[in-house]
Amino acid sequence: MLDLTIIPALAVTLPEVRVNRHWIDGASASGDTGWIERTSPSHGVVVSRSAAGSAQDAQTAIAAARAAFDDGRWSQLSGKARATVLLKVADLIEANADRMALIETLESGKPITQARGEISGAADLWRYAASLARTLHGDSHNSLGQDMLAVVLKEPIGVVSIITPWNFPFWILSQKLPFALAAGCTCVVKPSELTPSTTVMLAELLAEAGLPAGVVNIVLGHGQPVGATLASDPRVDMVTFTGSTAVGRGIAAAASSTLKKVALELGGKNPQVIFPDADLESAADAVVFGVYFNVGQCCNSGSRIIVHEEIAEAFTARVVELSQQVAFGDPLDPATQVGAIVSPEHGQRIDAYVTAARKAGANVAMGGAALTVPGLGPQFYQPTVVTGVTPDMAIAREEVFGPVLTVLTFRTLDEALHLVNDADYGLSAGVWSENIHTCLAFARGAQAGTVWTNTWMDGFPEVTFGGVKQSGLGREIGRQGLDEFMETKSLVMRIGRTRAPWVRPRS
Ligand code: NAD
Repeated sequence: MLDLTIIPALAVTLPEVRVNRHWIDGASASGDTGWIERTSPSHGVVVSRSAAGSAQDAQTAIAAARAAFDDGRWSQLSGKARATVLLKVADLIEANADRMALIETLESGKPITQARGEISGAADLWRYAASLARTLHGDSHNSLGQDMLAVVLKEPIGVVSIITPWNFPFWILSQKLPFALAAGCTCVVKPSELTPSTTVMLAELLAEAGLPAGVVNIVLGHGQPVGATLASDPRVDMVTFTGSTAVGRGIAAAASSTLKKVALELGGKNPQVIFPDADLESAADAVVFGVYFNVGQCCNSGSRIIVHEEIAEAFTARVVELSQQVAFGDPLDPATQVGAIVSPEHGQRIDAYVTAARKAGANVAMGGAALTVPGLGPQFYQPTVVTGVTPDMAIAREEVFGPVLTVLTFRTLDEALHLVNDADYGLSAGVWSENIHTCLAFARGAQAGTVWTNTWMDGFPEVTFGGVKQSGLGREIGRQGLDEFMETKSLVMRIGRTRAPWVRPRS
């Protein structure tokens, strides 16, 4: 008998199947190329049916965004006017958080309390972006000489394609869209075909908040052809993408034909390094949170820990003990902390990593198999801890994207940093030590977009986020997140008619 904490199915009636259509030029549109049904990963029944867009649907949406940008209906409004709309959207998101969270949970398999937290938290991203809309400014040069003055202007980059994944559908959309809108851009959004509903619900809220038609357009469907069209169409000025590194590479290649700007938020294989002098109880709790949050289907998943060899055995034992107390099960039950795996294929991929590690000589200290939740479908996976891992194993190098922790050991800071940096990815990294010098030396040496010291996965709208190496290009949120959606124009001005003529009069 497994010693785990499992929350069985609640007896509830699920809502009616939701129907999603594209949103183009301020109106709902179906297209005529069929529908995509989404089966809930936890409950095994169809929960939404969404239009399967064509290249033509994507082109119509791009044309609407292009026209809306070029006539200035949004880009030429004052920052105050744009902020007013963004603030109204934030209020509407909060007012609709419960119904949005319910469909997000049914489509993604994530716990309802987490979905509610993400949607309410996203409202704060919209509020922060509103503050940037009012304070965005360029630069001035007033020391170029008596007769010269230059200003560096910030202008919206233009039409932005936004392509999002299934793991944090509404949160990731809100890391991009309000910032693009604050800058004055117009957008075409393609949500993941697995989790489109909250993006479509947002369209209704944008209209209610007074956003002019055509400023935000949504096209539903698969990466091919919808995403690919958004990445390559010459009328698009920038594409911002969050998803897998493989698809990100393809998007950069597609965008290169017209040299549009590309921002990419990709995968990670994020390490937490634990020194013997750390607050080990807090570290163990953060490790468990870091690996099981969103069933490990998280770009920031703390999927590998690198533990000092003196404490490795006792620390791993404590992690296993805590893992047994994490509540896996029905995502609709507010007591649940970890829900379902997004698709059966993905569940098989996770299991294949664990099987390969076992074959390569690693030890599965806990889990390593599917999890049965009474009353629900088969798409759950046990909390899994794999020890005896060597740095060359696939499970130590690749993004498993599941509730699977790998444990490596080290002796010195240099050795730990070598293990941290010996990776294709560079999204985030963490260090646990009570010694400030250890933490700072680690923070300087780690190749990562974010370094957490004595904490994991804390984030704020003010603090920018992104990856190095194959984890991405560019930054989101914070002031830098706004900057990504702006072009820079230098304006150089002469004061008075003081310039000596270049053409010399004929003598
Ligand atoms: P994915 O790359 O399969 O899909 C992401 C989006 O791209 C979807 O909307 C999909 O339809 C679209 N797409 C697929 N093929 C395309 C193509 N050829 N052209 C254009 N668009 C295409 O990723 P996923 O499985 O939805 O999400 C999981 C991945 O996302 C993981 O690798 C994870 O690490 C990454 N992720 C990164 C961050 C971050 O901030 N760095 C955040 C969340 C997720």
